Amino acid sequence: MRRIYMDHSATTPVDPQVIQAMISTLTDSFGNPSSIHSFGQEAHKLIQKARKQVAGLIGADSEEIVFTSGGTEADNMAIIGTAKDRMGRGRHIITSQIEHHAVLDTCRQLEKEGFEVTYLPVNWFGEVDPETLARAIRPDTILISIMHANNEIGTIQPIATMGRMARDKGIIFHTDAVQSVGRIPVDVKSLSVDLLSLSGHKFYGPKGTGALYVRSGTRLTPLLFGGGQERKWRSGTENVPGVVGLGLAAELARQHLPERSQHLGKLSQTVIDRILAEIPQAYLTGHPQKRLPGHASFVFQAVEGAAMLVFLDAEGIAVSGGSACTSNSFDPSHVLTALGLNKDAAHSSLRISLGKDNTLEDVERLMEVMPGIIERQRLLWSLSPH
Ligand SMILES: *Cc1c(COP(=O)(O)O)cnc(C)c1O
Repeated sequence: MRRIYMDHSATTPVDPQVIQAMISTLTDSFGNPSSIHSFGQEAHKLIQKARKQVAGLIGADSEEIVFTSGGTEADNMAIIGTAKDRMGRGRHIITSQIEHHAVLDTCRQLEKEGFEVTYLPVNWFGEVDPETLARAIRPDTILISIMHANNEIGTIQPIATMGRMARDKGIIFHTDAVQSVGRIPVDVKSLSVDLLSLSGHKFYGPKGTGALYVRSGTRLTPLLFGGGQERKWRSGTENVPGVVGLGLAAELARQHLPERSQHLGKLSQTVIDRILAEIPQAYLTGHPQKRLPGHASFVFQAVEGAAMLVFLDAEGIAVSGGSACTSNSFDPSHVLTALGLNKDAAHSSLRISLGKDNTLEDVERLMEVMPGIIERQRLLWSLSPH
């Protein structure tokens, strides 16, 4: 059976060119980038090249890129690093109710340590209203962290407006751009952000790689101490093959962004149009226009999301029931409940996230099997006590 992968918001396959670059780094350039000899210098040069490639993808300067072990570490570093650096000025942080757990749980931890956190609500489309943000800002607010695009519902936030608001007031603004980088243009200057997180495995790079953009002049207290790598922001011998892979993935994403974006947008629009037209009682979640290209998310009335996922998987089609991190638990997704969906609806969600190698044929195959699966599920649902 031909398997079709449609879960690119969870992770993406590693680009074959990236794999090649990583293999040759492992074999030929094993030096420690901190060593003075030529082996070390060679590894150091590779890291500097990757730094330039990552910076190029988001409109930053090389010196503003700090390599991390992924999106989660970048989020933790941005939030904890700012909180610790600025706690003398204030202890209030603003975020939203629909952030990734890497942001939400970090904020919850800071609450236990004496910080106060405001979790902004979102509207039915999953948007944070900049006016609501303006009203939440206090004299002791030190940090605002709002994600660029949501992993479960694809909604893109008005970051530039909110970033300017924060800058006017001297508040640090962080955005988790893990979902948007590589899918839509991301430019740190036009977004007016001080800190931005990205992750390699969401744009055809290796897992366990990522970066935090730290705007020049922004202060952070490090999370890791030791050898002083990454200009003392992140100690530990660099993951050279990983960083090389991340760099090349960033370079490829920059080169191919317009065509990838357009291709993804076309595919997801086809999925959305066809599902809404061909499956009764199907509803789009997230914003109909201001959403990530390639991202299609739904709730289906009277269907168990987990069951749909399993039956689609049996047909060789991999999709997701929400976010990969919550699909193992039976708690309804915090994102869907923040939209105002009830528990039942939040359990009938499905996310189809397409990638550069998906085709219209894949969508055709999805639409061949999905209506039948849903119909059979609904029959079972109607027979079981609810
Ligand atoms: C995947 C993801 C993360 C976590 O990134 P990792 O590299 O897997 O740690 C954080 N935020 C968002 C929005 C994500 O989609």
